[in-house]
Amino acid sequence: MLVVCDEVKVGLGRSGRLHCFEHEDFVPDILTIGKGLGGGLPLSAAIGPAKVLDCANAFAMQTLHGNPISAAAGLAVLETIEREELAREAERKGERLRQGLQRLAERHRLIGDVRGRGLACGVELVTNSQNRTPASRETAKLVYRAYELGLVVYYVGMNSNVLEMTPPLTITVQDIDAALDILDQAFDDVGAGRVSDTVLADFAGW
Ligand SMILES: *Cc1c(COP(=O)(O)O)cnc(C)c1O
Repeated sequence: MLVVCDEVKVGLGRSGRLHCFEHEDFVPDILTIGKGLGGGLPLSAAIGPAKVLDCANAFAMQTLHGNPISAAAGLAVLETIEREELAREAERKGERLRQGLQRLAERHRLIGDVRGRGLACGVELVTNSQNRTPASRETAKLVYRAYELGLVVYYVGMNSNVLEMTPPLTITVQDIDAALDILDQAFDDVGAGRVSDTVLADFAGW
């Protein structure tokens, strides 16, 4: 059985290592990367053994493959990640972000868990920390209030109750601290019931 690691989101230094699988002490057969790979230009990659990728004529020839400008950008991105030690930076900045989030968790009962690696953080919102009841409405309100205060953050998860933070690896510590201040305020406002249900009405599907 072949193992595919989809590192489109968590690869390329974000987790604190160049590849996220390095944390787990194994090497996948096939690796996918994308998103930041092109530094803004459209580029993604599927890396695997020739016996898979060459299994049939033109098997891996897709519409957007082989664009030389995007490929050059991808090489420049890989060089920059290495030269600026962005994986180590992601670990350092992620640690600062998670420690800040842990401090918020001590002050705000809505926060049930803080987790992640490097600059990939999740904050789970619960209405009851014992049985971890998902605080889905509160999470949507939190995202809305943070947006009003100047911070864009998304929610994910089966119950739409986990804030996902995957900022650019070039984020500054000043921006991290500013984000934590905004979240602190937003949790205060949502926790105290100062964000009404009506603000979500225009965002059906959130
Ligand atoms: C965004 C994303 C994808 C999709 O990547 P495309 O290059 O847009 O096809 C796949 N997997 C994960 C985990 C993603 O975050």
